[in-house]
Amino acid sequence: MRGVAILGSTGSIGASALAVIARHPERFRVFALSGHSRLDVLIEQSRQFRPAAVVVPDAAAAQQIAARIPAATRVLVGTSGLEEIAADDRADTVVAAIVGAAGLLPSLAAARAGKRLLLANKEALVMAGRLFMAAVAAGGATLLPLDSEHNAIFQCLPERARERAGVCRLVLSGSGGPFRTLAPERFATVTPEQACAHPTWRMGRKISVDSATMMNKGLELIEACWLFGVGEERIDIVIHPQSIVHSLVEYADGSVLAQLGNPDMRTPIAHALAWPERIDSGVARLNLAEIARLEFAAPDPQRFPALRLARAAAAAGGDVPAALNAANEEAVAAFLAGALPFTGIAAVVERVLERWSAAEPHSVEAVQASDARARRLAVAAIRRYAVED
Ligand code: NAD
Ligand code: MG
Repeated sequence: MRGVAILGSTGSIGASALAVIARHPERFRVFALSGHSRLDVLIEQSRQFRPAAVVVPDAAAAQQIAARIPAATRVLVGTSGLEEIAADDRADTVVAAIVGAAGLLPSLAAARAGKRLLLANKEALVMAGRLFMAAVAAGGATLLPLDSEHNAIFQCLPERARERAGVCRLVLSGSGGPFRTLAPERFATVTPEQACAHPTWRMGRKISVDSATMMNKGLELIEACWLFGVGEERIDIVIHPQSIVHSLVEYADGSVLAQLGNPDMRTPIAHALAWPERIDSGVARLNLAEIARLEFAAPDPQRFPALRLARAAAAAGGDVPAALNAANEEAVAAFLAGALPFTGIAAVVERVLERWSAAEPHSVEAVQASDARARRLAVAAIRRYAVED
């Protein structure tokens, strides 16, 4: 029986993880849940799964839910509460499904505590890749990727490190998002609702916007560098609108292995939850004859400048990816709030990176300082953008 803590259980990944867990009550017990804003969802999940602990953002939220969840469920608050459940002995598996930089400290706590760490929170790895991987090694954690592309690559890589010499390239596939074929002159006026209407995946709003700019694929490029220990020059990105081929690994002999499946996050979640075993995820069987066509194309650098920015950040290293991530989080939030046009997102990230003097962050505090500095530059760039453009 595995005890599972889900950081960010009220989100899209969290809900999918609970859906898989609910199919296997003999294998998994929910030890802890967390939610930031949708407390009604957290209450409902607590009643269904009866966790030992839940984490909410603050004392006011704790008071709000106290009488509405099972009496045996302890309520913890804030980042320290998240770190506590991530490191608790009653959880041997931690699902890191908080969106953005807020997930860094709790994900790191799980890594240090040597958990089976199922990572969806790609921003943590983008911000602090070197420190994160060092914490995984020092804590003896087992890092299992939930991001569908990285989970696919994990499945296609040979298990033994010795055999990895034959691996030439990794190929990340991406749908191209809702604006893959949109005329370039229309990008400036797209709305948050259009940007969040992803053609193949149902996800939270931040990652949906990232998919529309393709910054998501850029963040995933950086994520893949750390997860698999390869340089960005050995990672290709290919557009694949059907989202059936989730990513590929190319070998020296010309073999290319891919992982296929319907676009449903329950597949990578079930894979990682049970690894190295296989369990039912509830996902419909893949019907290739019905799908009929799988298409591939090179991404258009004019439409998707975020790809160039992310690749440059990956190549630069140090705290440049942390700056890219922080600027992007601020720009996406401004776009969702109606304070920045869609085309302003990549422009703001570019302005922050132009002004960035890179350093190697040797501590989590240094990463957080870089993150804060990039956010200040981004906020200023967002204001200027509104005036000038
Ligand atoms: P979401 O917005 O649906 O859920 C985010 C979760 O994080 C919620 O539980 C929310 O309460 C919590 N949260 C938000 N801000 C927080 C804060 N400041 N402190 C603590 N908790 C906070 O997002 P999602 O789509 O589930 O994505 C979660 C992560 O998984 C992201 O990093 C995303 O890039 C990654 N991911 C998602 C998908 C997907 O299909 N949704 C696929 C691959 C990777
Ligand atoms: Mg992905």
